[in-house]
Amino acid sequence: MIALLLAATMVRVPPVLMYHRVDTSSPPDVISERLTTSPRAFAADLALLRAEHLRAVGIDDLYRLSAEHRPTNDLVLVTFDDGYRDQYRYAFPILRRFGMTATFFITTANVGTAHHLTWNEIRTMANAGMSIGGHSVEHVSLSALDFEDQMYQVVYSVATLRNMLHVPVIAYAYPDGLFDRQTIAAVRQARILFAFTTDPIHQDGAPASLELTRIRVLAGTPLATLAAELHAPPAYVRLLNASGALGSGERDRANGPHR
Ligand SMILES: [Zn+2]
Repeated sequence: MIALLLAATMVRVPPVLMYHRVDTSSPPDVISERLTTSPRAFAADLALLRAEHLRAVGIDDLYRLSAEHRPTNDLVLVTFDDGYRDQYRYAFPILRRFGMTATFFITTANVGTAHHLTWNEIRTMANAGMSIGGHSVEHVSLSALDFEDQMYQVVYSVATLRNMLHVPVIAYAYPDGLFDRQTIAAVRQARILFAFTTDPIHQDGAPASLELTRIRVLAGTPLATLAAELHAPPAYVRLLNASGALGSGERDRANGPHR
């Protein structure tokens, strides 16, 4: 039995697409404009995936399929950062129309504030099969903090998501892509299985489950121009002793009293 518990789950990590906002208009500053994809362009991206015989999924779906040893060759991970409200208004219904899912990384202190998702909206998305991940409490660059503050930003944000949503929360996205060894220790402490940075420059060597890179999808860049990256050779990560992370035990612990 012990051997079974210690069995490693091998996960083929597909290309990971990183979006921020999906909206009909964007705030007038240059950065927001680059991070805002129109609903029409996002739908076109999903249509391209379908035409390429690929399917967008959230991290929970990837993990479950991998643990069940089912094929994951046709998957692409789609992620949204920062918890903007337009993700519920536009991205969520478009994903549902295509029968696809994605991961939404939430900055917990921003929930319910102007232009950001409410807990009810996040809950509705989670109940519809979307994966919810952590993105710190206050959107700070973690590697600039001491360990105690990193622990607060990571562990408290993940605990808040689990307590408010009753979902497992197995993924984390580092704000601004920045992390260090202490950040890795903090996400381990929070029982996170997959953590994402932004650009490959932050990745040190071989793909590791807590420092996965993503492909930034910028406004005005049709996914078709990234088609080669969508079919890039797969990366594999080995998760030790992670079996059952999405099982009922995790949910019970998430619902239990704060320790
Ligand atoms: Zn962010």
